[in-house]
Amino acid sequence: MEFGQFGGQYLPPHILKAVKEVEEAYDRYKDDPLFLEEFQFYLNTYANRPSLLYHAKNMSEDLGGAKIYLKREDLNHTGAHKINNVIGQALLAKRMGKKKLIAETGAGQHGVATATIAALFNMACEIHMGAVDIQKQALNVYRMELLGAKVVSVDFGLKTLKEAVDSALDAWSNELEDTFYLIGSAVGPHPYPTMVRDFQKVIGMEIKQAHLKLEHKLPDYVIACVGGGSNAIGAFYDFIDNKEVTLIGVEAAGKGIETKFHAATMTRGKNGVIHGMRTKVLLDDNGDIDEVYSISAGLDYPGVGPEHAYLFDNKRAIYVSITDEEAVNAFEYLSKKEGIIPAIESAHAVAYAMVLARTLGKDKSIVVNLSGRGDKDVKQIASYRGLKLID
Ligand SMILES: *Cc1c(COP(=O)(O)O)cnc(C)c1O
Repeated sequence: MEFGQFGGQYLPPHILKAVKEVEEAYDRYKDDPLFLEEFQFYLNTYANRPSLLYHAKNMSEDLGGAKIYLKREDLNHTGAHKINNVIGQALLAKRMGKKKLIAETGAGQHGVATATIAALFNMACEIHMGAVDIQKQALNVYRMELLGAKVVSVDFGLKTLKEAVDSALDAWSNELEDTFYLIGSAVGPHPYPTMVRDFQKVIGMEIKQAHLKLEHKLPDYVIACVGGGSNAIGAFYDFIDNKEVTLIGVEAAGKGIETKFHAATMTRGKNGVIHGMRTKVLLDDNGDIDEVYSISAGLDYPGVGPEHAYLFDNKRAIYVSITDEEAVNAFEYLSKKEGIIPAIESAHAVAYAMVLARTLGKDKSIVVNLSGRGDKDVKQIASYRGLKLID
């Protein structure tokens, strides 16, 4: 197993065959200087990297404790860290001679990122999305179509993310020859969790470099929200050997971890198998995968990347949870204090930093990974506050 007792390839034979092909290709290219150079080229020239490490001075002064820095992944093209991953996987797909990208999407963020890169690389693109999610996210469906992708409506089961994954895998297994399955987070069967982490680790490498330049030391804390765990593992990875840096993953506590409405996989999950990997999973009383809830569509996943389960078990990282209410407060706070509207996912990390900063001295520094921008969430937050915006 790749990460202690976590990871693996728990798949039916016809899909395993396809995943093995991806594994062989990734093994071949992951250290290839030309591949890495091309990856870096698109990060710099298309995604707008390196992203800023911004000193949130107003917020730091207001809270009166540690110095807070924001890693501005929200300033990337398409407004989040997801672009890093889709560039990497699409380049690998091209190396493998694939002509088409297939992906699942929940709220549509990963679908839009995949459609974006398919447009850039002139590849066909098919996004599987639950019929219920299609109803809720009409704007993202139109975005994907605008970018040239075909959106497939998934009409079985609960008609949401889990069924979208099943449908995408099924479609993939029927056209392996020229199609690549592009996963949206550091989850799924090996090599995906490792590969996605490698494509996202640029976040932590840039944090380290910029922080050393600004503060002449490493940060004391690095904090990131955890859904599947890709922005968090990307921010953490380069610091794993720097034991003096505390790594904190923030999950969605929804309406409270004592209720049924949360997505706190690390806090409340058990070891199990989901989407081809062994990891921590939220299970119901019958041992089936539980329904999850969060105000944030990017965080409501019943599993978590296997490397996080490993970091949790060996205590290299700690995992905490933040409720909807705390995240919405942080969303509003950062908007007013710094003029930065964060994604509601990222607001979970901001909320925890607000609690932590107050308890620390001014000589300490906290880096919060601002995984994305909040334009997509404005309408939902307004409605959470009881306002109805007219379209
Ligand atoms: C998708 C998304 C997330 C959650 O995904 P991870 O793989 O856990 O990083 C977090 N923030 C934003 C802005 C997202 O779009």
